Amino acid sequence: MKQWYKLSGEEALKEMKVTSDGLTSKQVVEIRDRVGDNTLLEAKKKSVFQVFAEQFKDLLVIILIIAAVISSLSGNVESTIVILLVIILNAILGTVQHEKAQKSLESLKSLSSPNAKVLRDGKKIEVPSKEVVPGDILMLEAGDMVVADGRILNNYSLQVNESSLTGESTNVDKNDITLEEEVPLGDRVNLVFSGSLITYGRAVVLVTDTGMNTEIGKIAALMNDTKEKKTPLQVSLDNFSSKLAIVIMIISAIVFVLSMIRNVPLLDSLMFAVALAVAAIPEALSSIVTIVQAMGTQKMAKENAIIKELKAVESLGSVSVICSDKTGTLTQNKMTVQHIYIGEETLDVNELNLKNQLHRYLLYDAILTNDASIHNGVAIGDPTEYALLEMARKIQLMDDEIRGMMPRIDEIPFDSERKLMSTIYELHSVPTLLTKGALDELLSRTVSIRTNDGIREITEADREKILNKNREFSEEGLRVLAFAYKEVEEGHALKLESEDGFTFLGLISMVDPPRVESQLAVADAKRAGIRPVMITGDHKLTAVAIAKQIGIYEEGDIALTGVELDALSEEELNKKVSSVSVYARVSPENKIRIVNAWQNKGNIVAMTGDGVNDAPALKKADIGIAMGITGTEVSKDAAAMILSDDNFATIIKAVANGRNVFRNIKNAIQFLLSGNMAGILSVLYTSILALPVPFHAVHLLFINLLTDSLPAIAIGMEPPEANLLDEKPRDPKAGILSREFMTKLLVQGGLIAVCTLIAFHIGLSGGGEAVASTMAFATLCLARLFHGFNCRSKLSIFAIGFKKNIYSLFAFLAGIIFLNLVLFVPFLQNLFEIAKLSNYQMGMIYGLAIVPSVLIQAWKIIRSGINK
Ligand code: ATP
Repeated sequence: MKQWYKLSGEEALKEMKVTSDGLTSKQVVEIRDRVGDNTLLEAKKKSVFQVFAEQFKDLLVIILIIAAVISSLSGNVESTIVILLVIILNAILGTVQHEKAQKSLESLKSLSSPNAKVLRDGKKIEVPSKEVVPGDILMLEAGDMVVADGRILNNYSLQVNESSLTGESTNVDKNDITLEEEVPLGDRVNLVFSGSLITYGRAVVLVTDTGMNTEIGKIAALMNDTKEKKTPLQVSLDNFSSKLAIVIMIISAIVFVLSMIRNVPLLDSLMFAVALAVAAIPEALSSIVTIVQAMGTQKMAKENAIIKELKAVESLGSVSVICSDKTGTLTQNKMTVQHIYIGEETLDVNELNLKNQLHRYLLYDAILTNDASIHNGVAIGDPTEYALLEMARKIQLMDDEIRGMMPRIDEIPFDSERKLMSTIYELHSVPTLLTKGALDELLSRTVSIRTNDGIREITEADREKILNKNREFSEEGLRVLAFAYKEVEEGHALKLESEDGFTFLGLISMVDPPRVESQLAVADAKRAGIRPVMITGDHKLTAVAIAKQIGIYEEGDIALTGVELDALSEEELNKKVSSVSVYARVSPENKIRIVNAWQNKGNIVAMTGDGVNDAPALKKADIGIAMGITGTEVSKDAAAMILSDDNFATIIKAVANGRNVFRNIKNAIQFLLSGNMAGILSVLYTSILALPVPFHAVHLLFINLLTDSLPAIAIGMEPPEANLLDEKPRDPKAGILSREFMTKLLVQGGLIAVCTLIAFHIGLSGGGEAVASTMAFATLCLARLFHGFNCRSKLSIFAIGFKKNIYSLFAFLAGIIFLNLVLFVPFLQNLFEIAKLSNYQMGMIYGLAIVPSVLIQAWKIIRSGINK
């Protein structure tokens, strides 16, 4: 193993056979062929066989196996075979669906996996992290995730969080010096390690190791988080299933004992118990929920919301507060310079004069203390900084020429906490510290002012004028940057403390128009009972002006700055939080307090973030939302959802989708369980009245697994209703299985049971046990197929129409075909113990099966009439 930290930068480059222009494309291909992708081998995933085996661990499956055994004891071999086949088929389905869900999660994961900026063939390009190879020159800056191990070549105040490797959460200062001694990992200050986060500054790094050869790769097996996390809904359904299994066993036992007391023969009593258990077990339930959720996330990904944690789909439906950044999310992040305040005058861009030395200083400050650039007319870098380059180009001042003439000597990068950026350049042979940033940070650090008459001490009157101008610009919704400079000694070591004692130059204001869709999205949010809140690093007046334009800020609302927020106690904030709609000049810590205050009031909070320090707030929020385009890797890592278009309107769309997915799942569950309820009630009725068993286990399995699954999936695909955003957010604490829901199950299941039993009695009187059971089975099956249409919506089928969800029609037709195959194909007749039916009996089946749906639809129409 090479000890890279003991080599100097040049030695390391030589060792890797790389020039300072980076690798050539040819070298990259060669190396990648040799060392492979820069990825960590995931912890051993469960094999398909393991997944398959796990399907049998379910208590409900065990009950089915017992049922199969009992059937075979009763001499009913066909039944046993069918039950066993069903169990195996179910396990296969479960496995396929598990693998599919896994794949879909992985494809979402790859959508959100980090990119890296590398220098190749002398050009800075962005590549997916898995394409990084040893020898690449990596450009790192605050917010990036380090994707490989490397030796630092150039270091600009780099600070790194290496907690994923060392567990130490404080930031570590890095350096590009060469170390002489052997030192432990934590002290190798000139190296960066894969998996760590850049929290400050920037650096140029030579990649030394990738993939499993990195330090993190060596311990990869220890830190794998591939453990599947279940969503709250899945957990609550799991709990429900296990409770259900116990209840089923108890009732089955009672039914069994009851039959025995009545001197029903042992095997017949057992068959009752088996029928009851099979009727009650919702075999398809958990697969259907997973399938519907997976379809929901795919749809959201197409609409620019990438879900990283499945539970976000559920929480989205109950979001009641959205805290959103302003710049880029609510606004376009397309900045254009408007007015300039300099030499006590307010000018337009074309009034700037290159011959005026004061103007020249401001322009130098604007284009040198600036990391944006223009390549072939394409903007690269921060839009705020890019706007300054465009401004200079309007008066024929070319940034690349100026930058070519003057090399940067030192810098402290911009960070949103300090809100300043500083550089040192040699201006007229004097090292000069140039600074730009927020006026509130800069004005207190200025001691003098430069006007057209030269430099003089800054007076209170000057400050007053500058602040007034700043207020005037901000009230128009403009973003304002202040500019200042000072001369420093040769060799001045630039530190945070250097940012003081400045000479004020001027202000530049720029417009960043709201996104066109923001206003509508804010209105939608409000209609949906969701409170939008703006949280921004920008000036309070600018923020309020924009918030007013798009409807977030209304008369009577409060706007707070980070400083004002800091002055509030926990209690005061809790009291006030509902009336604050704009927070300005906030720090990342402020964001955590805001989330907390809303959560204390029982809200489900979504919070956007893009910066390196936003991760804790994103984690604290119920749904952390990162920006796909401008967001740092750190924020994407911490988020539960990523907006691939950075757009606030996308959040509202995702909320609507989240609500729809949840509603569809609820409806699908209602469909499955009410059908089961009908089965349970029918068996209970016949057992209590000492009538023959109405269904064989295979009948119920056929319905539960085959004819019921398709309508359930179709219900899961129901498109959103127009009024989806008219309702208040769902109470997150109210589970699906509420009292109202249970009542519905009982009533709807009861109706289907009554019709099934009428068919049963008709069969019994007209043909005997076999006909009765065939009629009961066919009626139950058909009635449940019709019931699929009832469960699509609260509204009647005439209000929603058949065409809107064409899948529900297909599912219905497929079910009818399956049923008729069983009723009429001789081989299947034998297998399912189907008796021959007369035309009258067939007619009765169809007639009775449709009755519950007619009644349910009629009730829906009456209720919507009453509500109107
Ligand atoms: P948000 O995205 O959260 O709405 P923002 O992008 O407006 O916030 P920041 O980028 O943190 O907030 O900017 C805060 C302030 O810092 C700005 O109002 C501006 O005065 C100053 N500022 C922004 N960008 C730069 C920069 N590149 N250099 C110097 N100062 C800057």
